[in-house]
Amino acid sequence: MKLIENNRKSIDDPVVCVMIFFLILGLLLLLVYLKQYFKWQIVYGYLFFLGWFSWTFLEYMFHRFVWHSKRSNKGNSKTDTSNHLYHHQHPSEIKMTSLTRSLLAIGCLLLAVISIFKHNYLTIITGFICGFTFYNFTHWLLHQKFSERLFPKKVRYHIYHHCRYPDKCFGISISWWDDLFGTVPGQQSIIQGKVVDFYFGEKMNKTKTSIKKELVILIILLSGHFYSPAQDKKLHYDVIRNGKVIGFVDVSEKTNGNVVFLQLKSNVKTKFLAFPYNSAITENAVFEDGVMIYSSYYKNENGTETSVEAKKYNGYFDIVENGHENLHHQSPSGYNTLQLYCDSPGINTKAYSNHFQQFLEIKKVAPNRYRLALPDDKYNYFNYKNGICIRVDIERSLFTIHFVLRN
Ligand SMILES: [Zn+2]
Ligand SMILES: [Zn+2]
Repeated sequence: MKLIENNRKSIDDPVVCVMIFFLILGLLLLLVYLKQYFKWQIVYGYLFFLGWFSWTFLEYMFHRFVWHSKRSNKGNSKTDTSNHLYHHQHPSEIKMTSLTRSLLAIGCLLLAVISIFKHNYLTIITGFICGFTFYNFTHWLLHQKFSERLFPKKVRYHIYHHCRYPDKCFGISISWWDDLFGTVPGQQSIIQGKVVDFYFGEKMNKTKTSIKKELVILIILLSGHFYSPAQDKKLHYDVIRNGKVIGFVDVSEKTNGNVVFLQLKSNVKTKFLAFPYNSAITENAVFEDGVMIYSSYYKNENGTETSVEAKKYNGYFDIVENGHENLHHQSPSGYNTLQLYCDSPGINTKAYSNHFQQFLEIKKVAPNRYRLALPDDKYNYFNYKNGICIRVDIERSLFTIHFVLRN
């Protein structure tokens, strides 16, 4: 699937968008003054169109500036925003039921009949409400597999919006506001079969390219060694609690050309109160040209296994968490929590976590000391000497554990 579009700058100020809309609407309303020259059917058809036209603008504005608002406001809009983002991540799930859609359609028919008999300005409102109903039907249609053949351009635009350019293609009923305000994709874009499958909620088949990429990653993981030992880093940490060594953390970084492979292996055996605690963790991250293409985390904690694995496909991460597969839109990651051991974060303010599959915030709290914020309001502190991490302080309310560099 290919599409080439213009590369025009978008109009990003909602006030300007509203002004442009009222200017167009004003011009269109002027034509109503010529109504005595036309049959009433044409006049009221035109009023209906104006109502529908106004709806399409509201639909665009709501989708772009409320549901995709950068600031998550308090109140309803936050719920609307998160509902909408949920739909983005689960495209096959649409909140409005077919019963509601059908009731809306019946309501529209009734309004249309009333408008025909009354033929007054109520027709504008009928057009507006029919626009809303038409929008809901169109959105439902755009998520049906058969629509791919019926309206390929519309479906492609909606796939772009869902999966690649959430800041483009906001129009569902029509795309003219996207054209006018410059929110159409700027370059030639090909939608991969895997993305289409994800969009239609179909079971994801491994494409040829993904198998190739998987093989590359597998070879990297299994080979374990590269031909450039001078560029390798190996760090061995003792895990210390109350002055006693209770385990180890080994971190290695291997570089081969444009590929960097990071691995962490740890093993801890201790007792909390009277209970034995055993944990083994293996984390991997692979970078290509400075961008993470693979990430994995495996933990066995007292016999309970947790695993997360993510592979990059263009702008997406295919994440398999404890056996459940999901495709996520993900901004490219250039710094991983494993790099916190090998390189001081410097100006980096976030690191991608293999465990949580999300970015975690890093803050410099003292010279050569950085704080990594975990999602559950816990902190790990990384301390550096000559750019290498020499100690990690895992500070919790009930205990403190240190990883201390041995070599
Ligand atoms: Zn959708
Ligand atoms: Zn959206």
